Amino acid sequence: MARVRLENVTKRYEDVIAVDDISLDIEDGEFVTFVGPSGCGKSTTMEAVAGLTQPTDGRVFIGDDDVTTLAPKDRGVAMVFQNIALFPHMDVFDNISFGLRLRKYDDEEISRRVEQAADIVQLEGMLDRMPDEMSGGQRQRVAIARAIVRNPDVFLMDEPLANLDAKLRVHMRTELQRLHRELETTIIYVTHDQAEAMTMSDRIAVLNEGELQQIAPPLTCYNEPANLFVAGFIGSPSMNFVDGELVEEGIRTDNFTVEFDHGIVPEAAIGDAVTLGVRPEDVHLSEYAESLASPTAPIDARTDVLEPMGDEVFVYLLLAEEETRSMEQDPASSPHQLLMSVTPDTEIGENQPVDVVLDRSKIHLFDTATGDALAHGITGPSGREPGTTATEADS
Ligand code: ADP
Repeated sequence: MARVRLENVTKRYEDVIAVDDISLDIEDGEFVTFVGPSGCGKSTTMEAVAGLTQPTDGRVFIGDDDVTTLAPKDRGVAMVFQNIALFPHMDVFDNISFGLRLRKYDDEEISRRVEQAADIVQLEGMLDRMPDEMSGGQRQRVAIARAIVRNPDVFLMDEPLANLDAKLRVHMRTELQRLHRELETTIIYVTHDQAEAMTMSDRIAVLNEGELQQIAPPLTCYNEPANLFVAGFIGSPSMNFVDGELVEEGIRTDNFTVEFDHGIVPEAAIGDAVTLGVRPEDVHLSEYAESLASPTAPIDARTDVLEPMGDEVFVYLLLAEEETRSMEQDPASSPHQLLMSVTPDTEIGENQPVDVVLDRSKIHLFDTATGDALAHGITGPSGREPGTTATEADS
């Protein structure tokens, strides 16, 4: 077990900055996942910890030791990769024990460690199987057992489940959580899959274009995303974003105005471009407004396409005045479309007019220019009727 610390780590390849000045501190025994789109620098950051790549700038610490220039084998780390490279002509026992034999451990110690690791990953009774007699998930467990027997201070896992089918991936997520609980070892995990990151990790480090966007527990990233990138990347389906402008009574967008108490965004000024973010589950039909502590005024919309998912239904909404234009645009980028999630028993059809409200306490505001979050949850205009200005209410 060991703590891992990156201090201003940068990795440059000629004209590409793969990792841009990343600093982070991973606690002893913590499960931290690096997540972000392909090419954001996750693997390079992990490789800097493993010693497979040398940072251009910055330092890497494992425990109290500066390991920046140490060889991978001297760092006390074990890696599991996406491509499971088992020796095809060796049985499971020999595959798992290969590294120990190279290091000249005695037979008794090797047997003890292999059996213990096989027990942890539930491969008991399969030690004499050949790799081609095993499923993808079982082979991946052999690869994990091979890392466990080395008794590493830190496990590094780079997309270890990427080649497995969807069902097995979900199953292996649970196994990895159990493994972490049993071993209590520091785990750094790399994935592009935000669901995988959300379900397994103590904290997730969200990366984009080589830069660390946020490092926080999964639910903090979900409920209090640091910026537009994290807000859009974490959560599926993605958060709705609507561009607007701060006005006296709140935020005005092309289609609606949300009144709110400006006091919560003291750093923003009237006229500033702000982006309103709201997750599909926080958009409601106005008939349910009463169940919300602070609903916005009703917004005119028309239902477009419905997507029944079984446990919920996704409703694509076109905001009133922009229907025609929205239909012609790429739906994913249309600013005049809102995605709403409703329960399956909701009576709603396609192409019908509806009024929707947003849950003010779940509205996020971002500075459109910088992308930085300004507020998570806004409050209604305090102590005054909607539509009146602060001065009228105060006087
Ligand atoms: P991720 O793991 O998030 O997909 P990587 O860390 O593999 O991203 O890569 C980050 C960026 O660095 C990408 O733009 C990638 O093309 C670039 N990169 C990675 N390795 C090299 C290399 N050996 N030479 C040049 N560019 C590289």
